[in-house]
Amino acid sequence: MTTGLRLVFLMYLILILASCAKPKAQKDCGYVQNVYGERVSWKQNSPIKLFLHASIPADYEIGIRAAAESWNKAHRRQLITIESLRLAGGSPVRDGKNVIYLSSTWETEKASEQARTSLYWVGDQIQEADIRINGQNYQFYVTDSVSNPQAISIQALLLHELGHVIGLRHNDASPSVMATYLKANHDRNQLQETDLASLQCEY
Ligand SMILES: [Zn+2]
Repeated sequence: MTTGLRLVFLMYLILILASCAKPKAQKDCGYVQNVYGERVSWKQNSPIKLFLHASIPADYEIGIRAAAESWNKAHRRQLITIESLRLAGGSPVRDGKNVIYLSSTWETEKASEQARTSLYWVGDQIQEADIRINGQNYQFYVTDSVSNPQAISIQALLLHELGHVIGLRHNDASPSVMATYLKANHDRNQLQETDLASLQCEY
């Protein structure tokens, strides 16, 4: 190898190493980003399989499925599936399964949270998502809120939490199902333009 050729080869090698070492920052499109500024998502690894924990009341299931269906319809193919197998036992920790729980206890200092979605990712790839619904501080309704004006729509809440599951963060800047707070007795069941744009940007 001539010195010139050797130099070119070496530079090529350095370029490859450099591109491995530092991934490129991306436009956020409403997503959580990793330390390199890359969007964190499930990439091609869908449909995302979610299980219902035994703590979820049977009548919530229809609302949860309707929320998943909204994302699937917008995506024009299955992005999220709600598995029919119910899981008993277990807790919202990293265990390789994506599970929706109703928690009867909640941290006192976080009582205002209606629900919480925990995401676990490696690089820019989400590997697990767990949803906890705050059953200690809130009451929920599926189709009819009249009996309790303080109740929260389970479908609207899940539409938001499933947004977190696919990688979205809060958006209070434009109309979005990812707005931080869901009002009581409010059927926020329609994905907005921003939400659809986020979906298309990454999936
Ligand atoms: Zn949220």
